[in-house]
Amino acid sequence: MDIGIVGLGLIGGSLGRDWRALGHRVWGVSRQAATVEQAVAMGAIDGGSTDLASFHGRPVAVVVICTPLDQVVPTGRALFPHLETTTVVTDVGSVKAPIVAALEPAWRRFVGGHPMAGTADQGIQAAQRGLFAGRPYVLTPTATTDPDTLACLTTLLRPLGCHLHPCDPAAHDQAVAWISHLPVLVSAALVGASCTGPSPAVLALAQALASSGFQDTSRVGGGNPDLGLLMARENRPAVAAALDHYRRQIDYLATLIQTEDWAALHTYLRQTQAGRPAFVAPDPPPAAPPQPL
Ligand code: NAP
Repeated sequence: MDIGIVGLGLIGGSLGRDWRALGHRVWGVSRQAATVEQAVAMGAIDGGSTDLASFHGRPVAVVVICTPLDQVVPTGRALFPHLETTTVVTDVGSVKAPIVAALEPAWRRFVGGHPMAGTADQGIQAAQRGLFAGRPYVLTPTATTDPDTLACLTTLLRPLGCHLHPCDPAAHDQAVAWISHLPVLVSAALVGASCTGPSPAVLALAQALASSGFQDTSRVGGGNPDLGLLMARENRPAVAAALDHYRRQIDYLATLIQTEDWAALHTYLRQTQAGRPAFVAPDPPPAAPPQPL
């Protein structure tokens, strides 16, 4: 299949690497010429351009918009005039309702998407094979979505090894506020507190002793600041509500410690120990890169 990717960074480049390994042909468009060159050199795309007009007359069956979140809608609007009307378009933005509301009425064959996979890195140099294997991949069809469009995307995405998850756009935004956007802010606050709370001597020792626990809990808060900002901005009501609820949990824990209510603290930690597996499989499947067709 001929595929287009707009925005050659971590997600766009990783999709390109997997799809080329599966035998697809990939045309990439990014903002900077050096990025396009690097994407060709690392095998993420067959060829590319910095100009959306380069899609004109090109027989791409599917285009995936992988730009930063705030660029998805303007990119879609600028892209559509250069596509055949049969082209399927999707995006990978981390917030879905505003994107679907803007782009679905503008393009009959648009379906929103969001791969639930990432790393702390950004840019084309961070693109890797197998990023989506074993991970959920949300698609947000609506009542007006053409079944053939959804079937086309399903056929393209399934060989990446991801678990496809059809979802209402607004329900997606509510859910990811808890398990994706809140963790970024909580983790950022952890890093922020650890940097600013201790005395210089304690800080130096803490930095020397930090190991796997801090690595796990600080990873998402130490990632791409632009992405964290845009998640909070584009999903503001849901993120604010989640953060407010989280702050009440922290206040409760602080009260238990101040009042030395160790029995209640133990009960709370027993409940969180029991609650976690429903979110995170105890043994996540290894991320095997997809094999060629
Ligand atoms: P990224 O690594 O920063 O990649 C985005 C790339 O898009 C940039 O490297 C930039 O490339 C290019 N770009 C910027 N503005 C553009 C424009 N107007 N037109 C064309 N290309 C443009 O970001 P990412 O992490 O891949 O995120 C991309 C999208 O994936 C976002 O919408 C995000 O919400 C979503 N997402 C991210 C994650 C994650 O964990 N990172 C997970 C799931 C979904 P140049 O070098 O050419 O400037």
